Amino acid sequence: MLDIIIASTNKGKIREIKNLYPNINFISLSDLDFKEEIVEDGNSFIENAYIKASYIAKKYHKITMSDDSGLSVRALNYAPGIFSARYAGNMHDDNLNNALLIKNLQGIDDRYAFYSCAICIVLPNGEHYEVIKKCEGKIIDDARGNGGFGYDPYFLLPEYNKTMAEISLEEKNKISHRAKALRALEPILKELELKYGY
Ligand code: IMP
Repeated sequence: MLDIIIASTNKGKIREIKNLYPNINFISLSDLDFKEEIVEDGNSFIENAYIKASYIAKKYHKITMSDDSGLSVRALNYAPGIFSARYAGNMHDDNLNNALLIKNLQGIDDRYAFYSCAICIVLPNGEHYEVIKKCEGKIIDDARGNGGFGYDPYFLLPEYNKTMAEISLEEKNKISHRAKALRALEPILKELELKYGY
């Protein structure tokens, strides 16, 4: 079996990844009792995903996968982008982030936005692979739905006329930026399994 470290402690993300690739032995940072803070000071989702994955791959000498995601709003010059988790400050508070987003969009008609998810896989020898995928929608003023997390209650999927918080988790896992990025990695993971699995 191929061992891959997921450079994350987010249980939801880890469950999603394990569910999609049951033949790979994914090891989380919690399994490794990793407690350090990795400074994500890159200028893009890809750079931040790479910073995390390469640090862990070097430290543990194992293939490592990492993701970085966020929301980009066209009318706000693609903010909050890589600062999505801390848009309203370092508290990482979804309610405050959403309130600031809606305040900044007051009186603006262009509501086009997209989520991005970058995933990076780094090998101990430095070789690396990257994917980035999007999920497009529109920001609405009033929250709808209780599912998802983060900006989901304000993120309308026009083709469903529902927000990301109104669709089921199963549906979200088919159309989301993260699901698309994970699926795009399939050929790379197959290749790694052939080369390094046993
Ligand atoms: P991270 O990749 O876990 O650091 O997530 C960055 C931030 O982007 C989250 O805290 C959310 O604010 C936002 N975000 C990323 N993906 C989603 C999503 O699927 N729904 C809602 N918000 C998201």
